[in-house]
Amino acid sequence: MKRSTTLTGIGVSPGVAYATAVIVRLDFPDVPDRGIRSSEIESEVERLHEAVAEAVESLESLRARVLERAGEEESRIFDAQILMVQDRDFLAGVETLIRNNNLSAETAYEFKALEYRELFSGSAKAHLRERLIDITATQRRVLHRLTGWEENEWWSASLEDPVIIVARELPPGVTVQLDREHVVGLVTEEGTRTSHAAILAHSLGIPAVMGARGALDAIDDGMPILLDGHAGVVYVQPTRAELEDIRARNSRWHRLELELEVGVSEPAVTPDGKSVTLLANVDLPEEVEPAIRYGAEGVGLLRTEFLVTGRADLPTEDEQTTYYRRVADAFRDHTVTIRAFDLGGDKFPAAFSAPAEANPFLGWRSIRVCLDQPEIFRPQLRAILRTAADRKVQFMLPLVTGVEEVVLSREMMQEEADALRRAGIRAADDVPLGVMVETPAAVLVADHLAQVSDFFSVGTNDLTQYTLAVDRGNAMLSRRFITYHPAVLRQLKQIVEAGARYDVPVSVCGEMASDPILGVLLVGLGYFELSVAPPSIPLVKWVIRRVPYAVARAAAEAALMAMTAEEVAEIVRHHMDPHVDLELLDPTGALSGPQDSATLPRT
Ligand code: PEP
Ligand code: MG
Repeated sequence: MKRSTTLTGIGVSPGVAYATAVIVRLDFPDVPDRGIRSSEIESEVERLHEAVAEAVESLESLRARVLERAGEEESRIFDAQILMVQDRDFLAGVETLIRNNNLSAETAYEFKALEYRELFSGSAKAHLRERLIDITATQRRVLHRLTGWEENEWWSASLEDPVIIVARELPPGVTVQLDREHVVGLVTEEGTRTSHAAILAHSLGIPAVMGARGALDAIDDGMPILLDGHAGVVYVQPTRAELEDIRARNSRWHRLELELEVGVSEPAVTPDGKSVTLLANVDLPEEVEPAIRYGAEGVGLLRTEFLVTGRADLPTEDEQTTYYRRVADAFRDHTVTIRAFDLGGDKFPAAFSAPAEANPFLGWRSIRVCLDQPEIFRPQLRAILRTAADRKVQFMLPLVTGVEEVVLSREMMQEEADALRRAGIRAADDVPLGVMVETPAAVLVADHLAQVSDFFSVGTNDLTQYTLAVDRGNAMLSRRFITYHPAVLRQLKQIVEAGARYDVPVSVCGEMASDPILGVLLVGLGYFELSVAPPSIPLVKWVIRRVPYAVARAAAEAALMAMTAEEVAEIVRHHMDPHVDLELLDPTGALSGPQDSATLPRT
């Protein structure tokens, strides 16, 4: 009998949720080894193909449901799965095992599936992670049918009651499919604040705690759980006192939320008159509406990977043009900054055969893929040029490490602009081209980059990862992933200075800007344009309107002299304390950067 316990993790998406747990296990069912007689071979082969046909049918109906609920783009994730489940080579392999080894359909299928998983999870582990999870999902589907196990359509079933999903990890492809009406919270054992699933949960406004180790042992299906996505705490079978405590804090939050609502129409100006522009990070089409509702003055980062990941094919130029135009139209007079496909790491389209790499995050990714694969990059450049003919968009390059990447990208853009002109297709001659400063190399040559770029946007997620050599997705290292580390702060300062020297506008689009306290620290460092997750806009603005710029600047100056991140946290809290309710905004008392679940103090 499991008892009332408390788990600590990382609060990656704020908000409180109280609901029953639905445990999600992406495991294979138990498949008993079963041999068959030669006379049974044909019927087993037939059973295999029937199970595959049923799996295709259920995927198609899921696709239709997601299409209705979330839209065309998101439903495409199933196209890839429908192709995977019918993979001819794979099924021929299973059939051969049935025929040559007299194995039952499920035994043969599991055998082959394990072989495939081995293949994908070997040296290419992180690289093909998302794809592997898709493959596994489809294989589980067929095995469930062959073994007669009940299939758990947890993520997209039309759930009746509000639930909190508890899982070891949630790949972004799956997060997209969640029934957002009923999934009111997420708890995972893996993942960190800057893992892509966390960013998505935050963008979608689903309270989430990640890196909650031991969650699957402590929580059973159907147990009531209380989740505090701000403090990063999960109360399993909460006590009455815990419920009351969180209710009290929640009511303070609600009061604040009412103030935030009022503040949406007010400008983001500090009490001493410094204006800050708040833009939105948009990862999925459905975030456009809340971004506008919360008063975003444009899009500082339009992630485009969702057009690619989990899908069977690459998006066409026309399809991209339609999407970019749609987003630009929604923001009318404001600028939308579109980012080049940030592929690699764990993000690749299913159809793309990426090489296996020992260190994918130090490997063939982002701008490197764009420059090496013109068939991916050029249609995107054309779509952006076409959009820019009559809309305000700009383009930025991820993971830049040197001037030549920008120069080459600009040349390719120019070639595509010329080609469009020759073909008589309406398009802009040029689009402002910016650089995401998210590698220490880019910081060190920021003065050079400034001379070939139209703007800088700082990606603090990757900049922290590469500066501190800490994998942003590794929950075990989350205590060490500190965006306000002195080594990161010094670089943030250098970037502002390089921008000012060459008159290149600078902004921040990493998650650090979405944190209200750290957002103010960024203002103090000289960043007056912040691009944040849409649900964070009101709170970031509220804090900006309360902390004088002079205070933010003093905090930043002192923080730049600090020897340790802990000192930085102390300095920032000391400066902000007279102006905002820190207990509410920073309940863990350690600034809200990712922290180690083991050392997080209880609130
Ligand atoms: C970043 O690295 O800070 C960033 C904004 O990009 P992403 O999180 O998509 O890598
Ligand atoms: Mg990045």
